[in-house]
Amino acid sequence: VAAIQQIEVRTTRREEMIDITSLVRGAVKKTGVQSGVAWIFVPHTTAGVTIQENADPTVKSDLLAHIARLIPKDGGFQHAEGNADAHIKSSLIGASQAVFIEGGRLVLGTWQAVWFCEFDGPRERRVQIKVLEG
Ligand code: ZN
Repeated sequence: VAAIQQIEVRTTRREEMIDITSLVRGAVKKTGVQSGVAWIFVPHTTAGVTIQENADPTVKSDLLAHIARLIPKDGGFQHAEGNADAHIKSSLIGASQAVFIEGGRLVLGTWQAVWFCEFDGPRERRVQIKVLEG
């Protein structure tokens, strides 16, 4: 069983989605695992990871804009750090994804990519990947 691998992600805006698929593929390749599962985990409370289309960039911008409308930054929250909306967005998107590996490759749908979701940037972020063989 391979150790946890870590990817560094540098975000440049308060809210953005960054395609980390190639970084995840690289981490999977490094393990040499031919069949199994890649767990992708974000160890942050104001960010997340999702799987979504990478072909039309309006999918990404619609997703971010709609989540921002659902959870406004100034929503009368009790959390005094000014990032309560980011915590809620992080919980909605979720902190992990699992993707199958077959033939040493991530098995994603044609239009799917793995996206790191920033909700309280810009920051230096980390993504952890654990590959389980099986
Ligand atoms: Zn906070």
